[in-house]
Amino acid sequence: MPALPAAAEPRLVAVLGATGSIGSSALDVIARHPQRLRANVLAAGRQVDALLALCEVHRPQHAVIADETLFAALRDGLRARGLATGAHAGDAALDALVASDACDTVVAAIVGAAGLPSTLAAARAGKRLLLANKESMVLAGALLTRAARDGGATIVPIDSEHNAIFQCLPDANAHHGLRRIHLTASGGPFRGRSRESLREVTPAEAIAHPKWNMGPKISVDSATLMNKGLEVIEAHHLFDVPGERIGVLVHPQSLVHSLVEFVDGSTLAQLGLPDMRTALAVGLGWPQRIESGVAGLDLLQHGRLEFEPPDLDAFPCLRLAFDALAAGGTAPAVLNAANEVAVSAFLQGKVGFLSIPALVADALAALQAQPADSLPGLLAADADARRHVTSAIQSAAAPTRA
Ligand code: NAD
Ligand code: MG
Repeated sequence: MPALPAAAEPRLVAVLGATGSIGSSALDVIARHPQRLRANVLAAGRQVDALLALCEVHRPQHAVIADETLFAALRDGLRARGLATGAHAGDAALDALVASDACDTVVAAIVGAAGLPSTLAAARAGKRLLLANKESMVLAGALLTRAARDGGATIVPIDSEHNAIFQCLPDANAHHGLRRIHLTASGGPFRGRSRESLREVTPAEAIAHPKWNMGPKISVDSATLMNKGLEVIEAHHLFDVPGERIGVLVHPQSLVHSLVEFVDGSTLAQLGLPDMRTALAVGLGWPQRIESGVAGLDLLQHGRLEFEPPDLDAFPCLRLAFDALAAGGTAPAVLNAANEVAVSAFLQGKVGFLSIPALVADALAALQAQPADSLPGLLAADADARRHVTSAIQSAAAPTRA
């Protein structure tokens, strides 16, 4: 009998932000393919118990907790469970593991600018980079795409819109005839409401997204439409398209995940149920298609597909993001950092919903855009914006109009 061909080695995947919404969707897809995918590095911020539970199920070689004060809890918890997983703590340990041969594929799903160092480490080390952490692209898009090019990394966007565009533009040649990108947006929980009617909305109302089940920060970003603004900047860097050629269409059904229009009049779109496992399976299996656990789309059952323009008066964050992209330099870094601080304050009940765009606008006005060709310059702009917004919130009279 002829010998069977040796099974290909499984991809070794590092899941950063493993305890979050994207992390758990990624682990769900990985667990469906034990022959081809192995969750070898799991990392989380502070949720040590949730990380230990994941280690018990997925048996990674390494586990990392970002908060160094939790190292002993992680190490002892692994020991108590009889797991051989190595315990690590801190950002430097995470970056070193990401760059090491413990993984060839990195799911970058830490929330916020905190994800930038590990995302950059994966890009520099030439990994397949499944990029969910859009904030790192907004903060340092030019540096990150250059690092990926120089390091030989392949970036597969995981944001559903950018993953859709990636699927419609699978090779660099497809770019030549590209006329416009249309990002779709669900419109969030407050679609159709006036700005004034949003003054008193609560964090619980803001994170109750009608279509997607996501972490709290991106859920608030979806409610303000800042999420779409961040995605416009992300699309600019990923696909090398200027802001003037990126449009936003509100599509409440969230079935068309984005569209690409070509000079010949063709428009390609990617459709599917709103479930991030599809995008993650595209990234994990590419160029092959693998099972994700997501059912196919029954258009007869779903009926209508509707589209409408975004309301920039009710949701000024989207306009602020287009403005920051046009201003260039450090402006997107300021936008992102100001938004992170404002959203965190909103979630803690310290400021109202309308203060989010007002605080971001105030930071952009106060911190003029500077050229941004170095990481230290961008990180300084990020820190300045955080300081500026924190002190605006502390001075109690937080602005409420963008
Ligand atoms: P989440 O809040 O559910 O999870 C965040 C994860 O990051 C957690 O595992 C947390 O422990 C970890 N983390 C937080 N701070 C950290 C730090 N300093 N160091 C290391 N780990 C840290 O968030 P999410 O919804 O999964 O979103 C993650 C990223 O993916 C965000 O950038 C978001 O914009 C993007 N994204 C999410 C979705 C979605 O459907 N959830 C869709 C598109 C893009
Ligand atoms: Mg998205």
